[in-house]
Amino acid sequence: MAAETFVIVGAGLAGAKAAETLRYEGFDGRLILIGDEPERPYERPPLSKDYLRGESAERPYVHPESFYTDTEIELWTSTPVSAVNASLRELWLEGDQPLIYDRLLVATGAVPRRLEVPGAELGGIHYLRSLADSERIGERIERGGHLVVVGSGWIGAEVAASARQKGCEVTMLERASLPLEPVLGPELGQIYVDLHRGHGVEFLPETTVARFDGHGSVERVLTEDGNVIEADFVVVGIGAAPRAGLLETAGIRVDSGVVVDEHLEASVPGVFAAGDLANAFHPFYGRHLRVEHWANALKQGPIAARSMLGKPATYAEIPYFFSDQYEASMEYGGYATDWDEVVFRGEVAAHEFVAFWLRDRRLVAGLNMNVWDASEPIRALIRSQRALDPRDLADPAIPLSGLVEKARGAATEALSVRASEGGAL
Ligand SMILES: Cc1cc2nc3c(=O)[nH]c(=O)nc-3n(C[C@H](O)[C@H](O)[C@H](O)COP(=O)(O)OP(=O)(O)OC[C@H]3O[C@@H](n4cnc5c(N)ncnc54)[C@H](O)[C@@H]3O)c2cc1C
Repeated sequence: MAAETFVIVGAGLAGAKAAETLRYEGFDGRLILIGDEPERPYERPPLSKDYLRGESAERPYVHPESFYTDTEIELWTSTPVSAVNASLRELWLEGDQPLIYDRLLVATGAVPRRLEVPGAELGGIHYLRSLADSERIGERIERGGHLVVVGSGWIGAEVAASARQKGCEVTMLERASLPLEPVLGPELGQIYVDLHRGHGVEFLPETTVARFDGHGSVERVLTEDGNVIEADFVVVGIGAAPRAGLLETAGIRVDSGVVVDEHLEASVPGVFAAGDLANAFHPFYGRHLRVEHWANALKQGPIAARSMLGKPATYAEIPYFFSDQYEASMEYGGYATDWDEVVFRGEVAAHEFVAFWLRDRRLVAGLNMNVWDASEPIRALIRSQRALDPRDLADPAIPLSGLVEKARGAATEALSVRASEGGAL
């Protein structure tokens, strides 16, 4: 039998980790990793942090260059894939013959949402997704001046922090009343607004951009409420959308990303998706989730690879992400859409605390800022689904690991009671 051909479209973190896993799991057929960027796969988190500030000269590649030749992974850079036909198992490269595959992984990530207002085509208005974007914005930050950041989500907030750290004047505009509010709620949103204002950022809430103005290059931002803000350059960070364009005629179910099951297989057998693009069924939450975070891409790549090989593999990680802004580094675990209580442990004013989001006394999410070793217990407590006493969570004298043990003990006890009563396990 001829060797099989596995193709991965999207040479980002998820694609690179999938390729690595396929080889480590013993796949010895032809393995092609295709990306439209000129670079080999790299990590994006540094692009709004140390790499943007020019503090690390090293490009944050996932693997050394030799890795791809050593493992016989054909890495095709600067190669956009324009279409996929899943029933014929072929994909199309621009202006080329179709490429036939046996298994396909699509890991094309996400693309920044564009702000469609008059003046959007002016120079000096930036979006941040790629290494090239980061280098362009980093060079502009080096020259100083007044930066207007549109949007105070993770990317906007991190760019604002980096630019302030480099001495730029920064104004951050937000349509909502607080930064990061949709994910973190008002309590944490207020902490972040205070953090930015404390570092000299002018934060303008409930502000919508009406248009950009300038001669060739942006010079001012006009807001719907009639404000005029002088700007030397602008960074827009208003979210991202899954890059599923190449699948439009593929016959694969696409709904807010590629819809995949818990093994990361799409509606057409032999096609898989991972990373920012995948809207994956999550067994713990009992619903589909599309997660745009580093850890998700890192861990879904290998799961997709094992599924491509027909090995048992399920993606069931509790979502996790991190962010660094000024001296405030944090990790967040969980997925919270509604909650009825937020409990704090530690020193909020000193930015050394853990925040817990509870629904019916069960932990749905937790955030640890400048407190380490809390992230694992947070995710274990979420998984346990045990009712927790908010006083225990708030008390720094009670180690979180102790609460995890207690939750595990309660679960074991419940199982043995059910077993002794003859219930099914
Ligand atoms: C500036 C920035 C900072 C971030 N910081 C954090 C952070 O602090 N913490 C955190 O948890 N997450 C962070 N993230 C998110 C994290 O980086 C992403 O979740 C992760 O990169 C997703 O990986 P991916 O492999 O799914 O997609 P990507 O890394 O986007 O890779 C997809 C690749 O596919 C290519 N591609 C797309 N379409 C085609 C096509 N048709 N043909 C060929 N190639 C194609 C793309 O160009 C890209 O190279 C950050 C993201 C950005 C942009």
